[in-house]
Amino acid sequence: MPIGTTVKKAIFNTAFNYIGKNPEENAPKLMSWVDKLAGDGPNTYAEQRAAVRKVLQDPDNNMYQLIMKVMKETDPEVLKAIFQNFFLNANIVGWPRQEEYRKKYNCNIPWAILLDPTSACNLKCTGCWAAEYGHKLNLSLEDIDSIITQGKEMGVHMYIYTGGEPTVRKKDLITLCEKHSDCQFLAFTNGTLIDDAFADDLLRVKNFIPAFSLEGFKEATDGRRGEGVFERVKHAMQLLKDRRLPFGISACYTSQNLDSISSDEYIDFICEMGARFIWYFHYMPVGNDAAPELLPTPEQRERMYHRIREIRATKPIFAMDFQNDGEYVGGCIAGGRRYLHINALGDVDPCVFIHYSNANIHDVTLLEALQSPIFMAYHDGQPFNENHLRPCPMLENPDVLRKVVEETGAHSTDPQSPESVEHLCAKCDPYAENWRATAERLWAESHPAKDN
Ligand code: SF4
Repeated sequence: MPIGTTVKKAIFNTAFNYIGKNPEENAPKLMSWVDKLAGDGPNTYAEQRAAVRKVLQDPDNNMYQLIMKVMKETDPEVLKAIFQNFFLNANIVGWPRQEEYRKKYNCNIPWAILLDPTSACNLKCTGCWAAEYGHKLNLSLEDIDSIITQGKEMGVHMYIYTGGEPTVRKKDLITLCEKHSDCQFLAFTNGTLIDDAFADDLLRVKNFIPAFSLEGFKEATDGRRGEGVFERVKHAMQLLKDRRLPFGISACYTSQNLDSISSDEYIDFICEMGARFIWYFHYMPVGNDAAPELLPTPEQRERMYHRIREIRATKPIFAMDFQNDGEYVGGCIAGGRRYLHINALGDVDPCVFIHYSNANIHDVTLLEALQSPIFMAYHDGQPFNENHLRPCPMLENPDVLRKVVEETGAHSTDPQSPESVEHLCAKCDPYAENWRATAERLWAESHPAKDN
């Protein structure tokens, strides 16, 4: 008989309290109980459990050090809220609900929803259009509340803000954290609007994690974002660290900064500042003003492929690469398969990088948007490539996006300068062609044929 939600919550809370009392001693003990309960049969995640057990028995392991830092250096109430929202609500309880909807409606149901509360930003970074667009485009508080309410109905408890600069709307963000205390919120932020009062609010609501967009040290940051920004971001990190609040980093790698933002020096610096994760994004040549020369070369991307694995194996921080880690999530996760994106106009895009849509949240429900033509094309087409180092219908398989957009009649949702799919994909053609051989070699090396 399946375990009910109330029982799952009770078991979870007991386990959390037990580990929290003495993480070093009790975490390995808890794993032994899990092993006994899980048994050795199929679908008991024996390999994953063995990996976790190995980490928990080795104090020299970098992931052990990260886990202990998180357990001991995070405000206990904040930690509990994150565990409840992230592990329990978004996964253990939310996942079966999502599965129910997937089966019932034969469409993708996301695990997370990305949304832009505003297109506005307080900075004027080189290459970013947000500042030029002023404060004109916003999802209202009611719009966001409705998206979250509809999402929760389907089992979605993860909400990630992009923009624009989300903290331009910090008062509304806090209201939403309070109203939806069973959800986990995360925001990609430039960090410059995080002050004492907002940090106090974050400590009070407990369910909001900032991910600072930081691509390098003072010279690189101030050169792109403006004089003094690097120091302001460091100050914001310190405000969070002082309150024992968790945060991470998001960094876009390009042909120009790839080595510096994956260097030991940079990783050690953000670990020292207190970051618990870093989320790398491959530069995408999206928009009429994009600069394709910033696309990494095949050699650079291969370097990043190895480097991200090295960081994960050696540094006390959890590092992910949105483009080189497709193998862990079955390729492309967009189109609602694991996430979708809603812009400040309410257009429902399949991905934060794919600005084509047939649905707007002001006209249709979230579920109807998930059943709209471009989302169904994602649902029916995924994975777009069996090689998950070539996951994207745009970057590595541009003919796929051409076909999807043409066949579904999806329109550009770029509010400033709509870009044709042909213009976008033409920038990706040479990249896709050049990357193919390296991707095939790396994939064959890491996934040798079983019968060889
Ligand atoms: S559409 Fe491309 S960038 Fe977006 S999730 Fe899929 S593979 Fe990644």
